[in-house]
Amino acid sequence: MPPTAGVIRRLDETVVNRIAAGEVIQRPANAIKEMIENCLDAKSTSIQVIVKEGGMKLIQIQDNGCGIRKEDMEIVCERFTTSKLQSFEDLSSISTYGFRGEALASISHVAHVTITTKTADGKCAYRATYADGKLKAPPKPCAGNQGTQISVEDLFYNVSTRRKALKSASEEHARIVEVVSRYAIHNSGISFSVKKQGETMADVRTLSNATTVDNIRTVFGNAVSRELIEVGCEDVKLAFKMKGYVTNANYSMKKCIFLLFINARLVESSALKKAIETVYAAYLPKNTHPFLYLSLEIAPQNVDVNVHPTKHEVHFLHEESIIERVQQHIESKLLGSNSSRMYFTQTLLPGASISASEVIKPSTSKTSGDKVYAHQMVRTDAREQKLDAFLQPLPKQQTDDVQESHKAAEEPRDDKANEECSATDALSDLEMLDASDLLSSVEESEMQTGNCEPSTSSDSVLPSRKRPRAESDVEMENTEKDRTMTAASAPRRRVINLTSVLSLQKDIEDRAHKSLQDMLRNHSFVGCVNPQWTLAQYQTKLYLLNTTKLRYVSL
Ligand code: ADP
Ligand code: MG
Repeated sequence: MPPTAGVIRRLDETVVNRIAAGEVIQRPANAIKEMIENCLDAKSTSIQVIVKEGGMKLIQIQDNGCGIRKEDMEIVCERFTTSKLQSFEDLSSISTYGFRGEALASISHVAHVTITTKTADGKCAYRATYADGKLKAPPKPCAGNQGTQISVEDLFYNVSTRRKALKSASEEHARIVEVVSRYAIHNSGISFSVKKQGETMADVRTLSNATTVDNIRTVFGNAVSRELIEVGCEDVKLAFKMKGYVTNANYSMKKCIFLLFINARLVESSALKKAIETVYAAYLPKNTHPFLYLSLEIAPQNVDVNVHPTKHEVHFLHEESIIERVQQHIESKLLGSNSSRMYFTQTLLPGASISASEVIKPSTSKTSGDKVYAHQMVRTDAREQKLDAFLQPLPKQQTDDVQESHKAAEEPRDDKANEECSATDALSDLEMLDASDLLSSVEESEMQTGNCEPSTSSDSVLPSRKRPRAESDVEMENTEKDRTMTAASAPRRRVINLTSVLSLQKDIEDRAHKSLQDMLRNHSFVGCVNPQWTLAQYQTKLYLLNTTKLRYVSL
């Protein structure tokens, strides 16, 4: 049997509005964002938010802005009523957050709304309550200060699906605090506060005379605010300006905090976030992130402001070029702040969880229980720090040596025929800078050196011995071209049964320096400095190896 066609009917207006409202307002934090933007549009200098049960029971916003005229109170909660936009053309020059006249209407369709407001020239304040966009009764005169107070009660009382989609009250509360504090940071000069109903202490409170950095400190704490670098750039061709504050390479945290405002709106741009995180990846310990607050002003004609209120992810014209400029600027600022870098220390072995935020400052060499001394510092992740920090520029003579020794390595070593060395000799020939040498160069980079003991043992570990070169050595040398001695380059072993070779091997093994062997077998490769020098760590010391002198012989 063919299916029967359904009857098409016009939806009831309240149903349409309720569906639309559910799209605009998805959770208490959305409603608060819309209402804060209204307060800002009304030129308020003080915005106080009180919430109950994560905003689900009550949201109350009080401002000291221009207020709403008594005559407008009748339609203020209807859809598409606004004081901000008159013609479509106005859209290209609009400077207010709002223009669609949808927020209050949406809220009043999914909650009980009460507005108390007083304009500058109004004799008194007026209060009115709304349901489904309409006034419930004529506005009543009452006492009140200049400005507007809007109370939103029982959000989603009539949309059970939305209510069920909400998280716990504490999670919703956290989102509210996040929105308020972000707007507070972006709008220094305006005081904000957000608190739970009945509590005396606010979750966040900023003052109208506070700076942006003060506000970042209030919200995110001293640890972030003292590591901030001011950033700012501008490009006339791309028609954009950027300013803000970002943390320097000393600071990192588990999750990236990115406050992005484009033309004063709190938005998200995953492309921009990714681009900036790439810059930081070179400076911060693995899996840690920066704090970023950026405010972009982009020519209004290049950003589509006519986006849906819930659309936080934005795109704009010349996006790639603008992102690249911002990226370059931040990188240059990060490099500029490099001189005051501190070193991240890690006393755990790889695999254990890393507390990357723990930094040792050069001046903290006082005795305390969990203090880490320089000689105990263990560096196991090459990405924690750039290797250049450990280097002193090579004198020219030495650089030439590198090239020469390179050449020599390519050719058969005839010139060395007289001073042939055995396998063990190759090991003892290993040139190694004493850890104290290294640390002295590290010292320049502000590493803590106070307690490092000069390595006296390295001399005894590395006696300089010369022995005649064994025949087998040459062969082994040819087959084993890899001279970089990385832990990964495990030699392929050949089964040898010839007694002469075996005894030769034993002889070599007996003569090998045991602790040096142990060191070479159990070191951790840190990184290559240049084709000649390699950093390796053994126990708690860092060694600089001259790899051109190293021969790895499989025994
Ligand atoms: P929009 O902001 O897009 O105009 P809203 O629904 O958010 O739409 O607000 C409707 C109107 O209500 C605004 O145009 C404004 O005139 C008035 N209004 C809302 N909140 C306030 C406020 N806090 N102070 C003064 N006027 C307000
Ligand atoms: Mg609005």
